[in-house]
Amino acid sequence: MPIAPFVSGMRMPVLMAVGLVAVGLSGCATTREGRLGALAGGANLVTLTVTENLDVVRRECNSAITLAPLYGCQRSRVVSLPDGGSARAVTIVRYTDAAPSSLAFEIDLHELCHAVAALQPLRDPCHDQNGGVLSSATPATFAPAALAPAAFAR
Ligand SMILES: [Zn+2]
Repeated sequence: MPIAPFVSGMRMPVLMAVGLVAVGLSGCATTREGRLGALAGGANLVTLTVTENLDVVRRECNSAITLAPLYGCQRSRVVSLPDGGSARAVTIVRYTDAAPSSLAFEIDLHELCHAVAALQPLRDPCHDQNGGVLSSATPATFAPAALAPAAFAR
C-alpha cells in the first residue's frame, strides 16, 4: 500500500486565524502531517505534524498548559494489539521556522517510526504500509546511478 494516503502536506493561509493583516505580513504557512506504523483499530504508531503556523501548534496541543510560547507537544496512548500485547502510539506536533520538503518530512516520519518501535517490545510496523519506499521521491530526486534510491534498508 502506498504511503501517499498517510502523508499529506498543505499550505494553510494565515488568514484563517489572525486576519488579513497577518496574510500581508506572513503569506502562507506550511503544515505537513503524516501517520505511519499501522496498529490495530486504525491507530498508527507515529503521528507527526510539523508546521510553520503557531496557531496549529496551539490548537493541536490544547491540553498543554504553559505561560511561555508553545512550540510543540507530544502525547501518547496505549493501543492493544491482536496478539495480546500493547503498543504506545505517539503523536508529536511541533513548530518549524522553515517547513521541510515533502521528501524530508517523509524521511523524518519514517525514521521516527522506527525509533518509537525500537523502544517497545513489538514487531516494527513501519514498512507495513509502504514497503519502506518513499512516496515523495521522484527519479529526479536521486542520482541516476544510485541503487534502489527511494527505499529504506530498514
Ligand atoms: Zn525503514
